Amino acid sequence: MKECEHFKKLLCDYLDGELSKEQCAEFEKHIDNCTNCDEIINNLKDIIDECKNQGTLTIPEHMKMSLKTYIKEKIRIKGE
Ligand SMILES: [Zn+2]
Repeated sequence: MKECEHFKKLLCDYLDGELSKEQCAEFEKHIDNCTNCDEIINNLKDIIDECKNQGTLTIPEHMKMSLKTYIKEKIRIKGE
């Protein structure tokens, strides 16, 4: 699934910085069309909801760490 690969990469990238409203919308769009990423999204739903309320959101450092570990375990992007 090419779209999922893109989605997962985006997910890892945004954990390094701020989640913008555009990225937030892109996440939501993918979630709506993809049951594949449902499990990952369930863990991010609160974050995305907060992003929607605030416009932008900086993820707390401790959360970044656990999310990154979680995503890496779930996704295993090839070549990394
Ligand atoms: Zn997906």
